[in-house]
Amino acid sequence: MENMNALKNDLQNCCEHMSQYEIAKEEIVIPEVLPRRQSENSKEAAKKKTKTREQFLEHRRKNASNLLRSCANIIESLGEDITREGIKKTPQRMAQALSFFTEGYEMSLSEVVNDAIFSAESSDMVIIRNIEIFSMCEHHFLPFFGKLHVGYLPRGHIIGLSKIPRIAEIFSKRLQVQERLTVEIGQAIQEAIKPLAVGVILECTHLCMVMRGVQKPGSSTVTSSMLGLFREDGELRKDFLSSINR
Ligand SMILES: [Zn+2]
Repeated sequence: MENMNALKNDLQNCCEHMSQYEIAKEEIVIPEVLPRRQSENSKEAAKKKTKTREQFLEHRRKNASNLLRSCANIIESLGEDITREGIKKTPQRMAQALSFFTEGYEMSLSEVVNDAIFSAESSDMVIIRNIEIFSMCEHHFLPFFGKLHVGYLPRGHIIGLSKIPRIAEIFSKRLQVQERLTVEIGQAIQEAIKPLAVGVILECTHLCMVMRGVQKPGSSTVTSSMLGLFREDGELRKDFLSSINR
């Protein structure tokens, strides 16, 4: 909260010194609480979620021109000529791209799952491999991308296969670190169908590592999250891991 106020003050001071950019005079609004995933089956939570999302969208609407100006500022600050033919419309394209990369903040688990939960005929392991993942590193504002593998042991319910990549998108289209993204995907599947076990493996290349020379091209970072029986039972976990590597 204190940090938030400090940031707000900094931004306002900063704007006062940037009159050449004709920064709008309206107060800068920084959302103090970004919408988070809420538990399902709760009307109260659903109501709250809708409201939070509306607030989020409202924040985006209010700040659209701010974002555009900020993108132009970045390009100019780097020494480029913002009026140059090829770059003239870049702030607009950049703002649209950034909004798209972060639209996961406005998605909710219950809407994504949308009744695609069915009765399971067995509790045999379900594995979905090689789901393409794209996300944004919150430390460097650069993409990281790779493959997601998910497995679970049904406890009476399965989820539509196409829903797993959609669930992943709720969290990948946010500012992220790979470790948190992995955990959030596992928790969301856990929340959606409450299986006996969930395992998530994420293997990504980070442009912030590769482009800055910290990591060699072609190398990747692997993170995993195991819940329920995959955490407790070493044999089951081994089965899951060998199914993924098969
Ligand atoms: Zn990074």
